[in-house]
Amino acid sequence: MGIRGRFAPTPSGRMHLGNLLAALLAWLDARSGGGELVLRIEDLDTQRTSRLFAAQLLDDLRWLGLDWDQGGLEPDYRQSRRTACYEEAFRLLEERGLIYPCYCSRTERMAASAPHREDGAVVYSGRCFRLTAAERAELEGQGRRPAWRVRCPDLSVTVEDGNCGTYTENLARDCGDFIVRRSDGVFAYQLAVVVDDALMGVNHVVRGRDLLCSAPRQAWLHEVLGYPPPRFFHTPLLLAPDGRRLAKRDHDLDMGALRERYSPGELTGLLAWYAGLVDRPEKVTAAELVPLFSWAKVPKNDVVVGCP
Ligand code: GLU
Repeated sequence: MGIRGRFAPTPSGRMHLGNLLAALLAWLDARSGGGELVLRIEDLDTQRTSRLFAAQLLDDLRWLGLDWDQGGLEPDYRQSRRTACYEEAFRLLEERGLIYPCYCSRTERMAASAPHREDGAVVYSGRCFRLTAAERAELEGQGRRPAWRVRCPDLSVTVEDGNCGTYTENLARDCGDFIVRRSDGVFAYQLAVVVDDALMGVNHVVRGRDLLCSAPRQAWLHEVLGYPPPRFFHTPLLLAPDGRRLAKRDHDLDMGALRERYSPGELTGLLAWYAGLVDRPEKVTAAELVPLFSWAKVPKNDVVVGCP
């Protein structure tokens, strides 16, 4: 089967340089292998995302010379319209006895958690897993609405990342029971991304390295739900000179500012240089990069971008 990749941005603001690097590499990975690319809009959180940002995102990608074969603004490729698919997967996990309600507030969650992981997340202690039926009923009686967690087994899951190499986590110890549905009913990223990648036939997941720590639990969920797990490729993060990760709130490096300062060719050249595909940041088109692309050239570590 050919490569079927995807780019899955969250339309919560204008893309920044780091998002563009991930998009370009996802595009190059698919195109250099003669594969297809899906553009999925991750707008699960309707409070933080908007259709306007999604439309802007499509325009920014096209401006850069990137295209896709399916997806975009079509409802089938917008997570906010795919609740029925997530419901079904949730039910399957429930049937397997893997789901339980968690009544902890954020403060309680922090207190009931093991020390922070390297990525800043906390490993949930499983406190609500041990609630008795009577305790659950009491909390329900107080009007507490639970979030829903999936129970993680004491299992080491290894992901052979196509860029970063071998990455292993013990699900119970390093990850902990994670939320698959929020207390307001919205499905969580971890469940939605697995269901979508599987149902959309995605077999190459290319995205920023900040999500490498999600790969083992996602690979495991794929297996539990009966889907073949995709191959993962995590791309270097771009860091500001002070070591901070670029974020959407850094407007100086978002697409609005970048489009004023660079032509598409210049910006693509800069990204290609960060990605190790060219020796100098010179004007180039995405299409011209296709024969130059290889994961062997892409840095494994984060890249400090100075002041582009
Ligand atoms: N929607 C996520 C983001 O914009 C990416 C999720 C993924 O690629 O798995 O950061």
